[in-house]
Amino acid sequence: MSRYWSTTVHRLTPYVPGEQPRIDGLIKLNTNENPYPPSPLALAAMQAALDERLRLYPDPEGAPLKQAVADFHGLTPRQVFVGNGSDEVLAHVFQALLKHEAPLLFPDITYSFYPVYCGLYGIEYRTLPLDADFALRVEDYLAHDGGRNGGIIFPNPNAPTGRPLPLDAIERLVRGASGSVVVVDEAYVDFGGESAVTLVDRYPNLLVVHTLSKSRSLAGLRVGFAIGHPDLIEGLERVKNSFNSYPLDRVALAGGVAAMADRAYFEQTRQVVIASREHLVQALLPLGFEILPSAANFIFARHPHHDAQALAAALRERRILVRHFRLPRIDQFLRITIGTDAQCEALQEALRELVT
Ligand code: PMP
Repeated sequence: MSRYWSTTVHRLTPYVPGEQPRIDGLIKLNTNENPYPPSPLALAAMQAALDERLRLYPDPEGAPLKQAVADFHGLTPRQVFVGNGSDEVLAHVFQALLKHEAPLLFPDITYSFYPVYCGLYGIEYRTLPLDADFALRVEDYLAHDGGRNGGIIFPNPNAPTGRPLPLDAIERLVRGASGSVVVVDEAYVDFGGESAVTLVDRYPNLLVVHTLSKSRSLAGLRVGFAIGHPDLIEGLERVKNSFNSYPLDRVALAGGVAAMADRAYFEQTRQVVIASREHLVQALLPLGFEILPSAANFIFARHPHHDAQALAAALRERRILVRHFRLPRIDQFLRITIGTDAQCEALQEALRELVT
């Protein structure tokens, strides 16, 4: 607290990211990072970017990266916005596209940064409960207050549940809520979800947000992007150019371009993570765990006879870090990032000892 703070800062409740502790031999399954390294081509491109050109500012538009994203998705660069991690992209989305008279809508269980942005930008919001199986009900959003809302945002697959929403449900929502911007945060979609990017040409109110942090193993580089109608992108550019002209540095642009271009490596790593997830699920079910269907690089699991917080603490003693949220409805779940097969096996062994 300080009397020098603004009123807004006094009222903020900042986001709390997962721990990044320095513990030797730690098995870190708490922040949904990819256990495999970035594409070797991306690493080489970044190394090649480290030269005297760093004295020059980077391209303020991030044009080469927009082109690489557009090429990957079969779109035009005018449909692409790039930023310093998808968190920054989302921050601009809240300010540029979701701040309206009527309240913004999002699920009661969702990415916990959304209410934080609302606090920062003074955006009114309502949360709509997921159903008993933690699925999003499109009809609730269309029916809420006779269809009056200031926008809709949700992750797909959802975080921290991992549960995917089928593409036909998303299309029903985007079509039914044509007066609002619908933002689908697809941070984890490459691990088995159906991307709504295929819909952007047909729906001018749809914005899809992606990150290179998860499926492209570049959480440390901070690169994210949004895809949507050029008018939505222009709104984001207006905010970005009122905030930071150069959010992506030269190294990030070089690495991002090369990572988007290396399709073979992307395919290979995401398939390995998906296979490891299925393997882990099959190993934990016989131990009595209940696991929500996941299309992400993590699972959301609970044990009917063991307290989740106690399990997380016991795993930590064994140098295995998973994420536990002390929040209504989900405080008996553990969110477990998919690691390498060796890491998943160590986790399985530890859990076997703890629950049997
Ligand atoms: N959206 C969701 C649903 C997430 O879980 C995360 C990761 N915390 C992000 C966006 C942000 O990822 P990044 O800023 O690394 O792109």
